[in-house]
Amino acid sequence: MTDSTPPKTIQRVAIVGGTHGNELTGVYLVKKFENAPELVARSTFKTELLIANPRSVEVCRRYVETDLNRCFSRSGLDKPATTYEEQRAQEIDRLLNTETPSEELCILDLHTSTSNMGLTLILGNLHPFNVRLAAYLSTINPRVKIYKWIDSESSQSALRSLSPLGLSIEVGPVPQGVLDAELYQETEYLIYAALDFIERTNKGDRPTCPSAITLYQGVELVEFPRDSQGELTGMIFPDLQYQDYNLLNPGDPMFVTFEGENITYDGEVTVFPVFINEAAYYEKNIAMCLTQPQILGVEP
Ligand SMILES: [Zn+2]
Repeated sequence: MTDSTPPKTIQRVAIVGGTHGNELTGVYLVKKFENAPELVARSTFKTELLIANPRSVEVCRRYVETDLNRCFSRSGLDKPATTYEEQRAQEIDRLLNTETPSEELCILDLHTSTSNMGLTLILGNLHPFNVRLAAYLSTINPRVKIYKWIDSESSQSALRSLSPLGLSIEVGPVPQGVLDAELYQETEYLIYAALDFIERTNKGDRPTCPSAITLYQGVELVEFPRDSQGELTGMIFPDLQYQDYNLLNPGDPMFVTFEGENITYDGEVTVFPVFINEAAYYEKNIAMCLTQPQILGVEP
């Protein structure tokens, strides 16, 4: 230890799969760990395994009535539940948050994307622990990218927001309802590395991290082009498909209409889009999220 602040000991780590029922990587990893708990057991904390939305897993859909990963705002949790997912969110809140104060809980929430997200770590906040964990994991696999949503209601109502500590692992591209062995294994190794990081941190042995990371900070959500009736009028421009984390310059085509006309990016600065053409976001009318990379210092 180099500074005077003692590290906060993490007493519980929750590994969560099936927050979205058609994202199978997390579902099958949690099932694997349930059958072999020694893989995720460590000496300084308790590991808890959770299939967050079992009914949606059963029918292999993102959700049954409403998106569970938008049900965790404090105000939502405190009002009477009217849907299955709202009820489930309250159960999960009780399950994860009643035994010990939330500061001692770390949540690893496992997701997949149909976009080319590679191995994306999504931070809900820039707590120094989360930044160090993400920085450490970026040394485990060079494909790791670190992303933070534009501060919005959606990021404060995600399951991971039940604790200030932890992150979501969002891997892709993989279709909904499909397993991709390589992404499954890469996710699995990131989980082991995260658990080892927490174990070492709990023991006061600060794992070596890079001194800075690149954080892709969300700056804008881009909607699909639609007509006055709300009907789609275009699609993601072909050259932009699977180009997540690559630069998009002012004037570059973003969409092509069904008539073959290009719609260009009319911003003034170069951006780096992610979640391009994510299947689950059509209903949210999100065609992509624009980010700007920033260099973030990491506590030694
Ligand atoms: Zn998801």
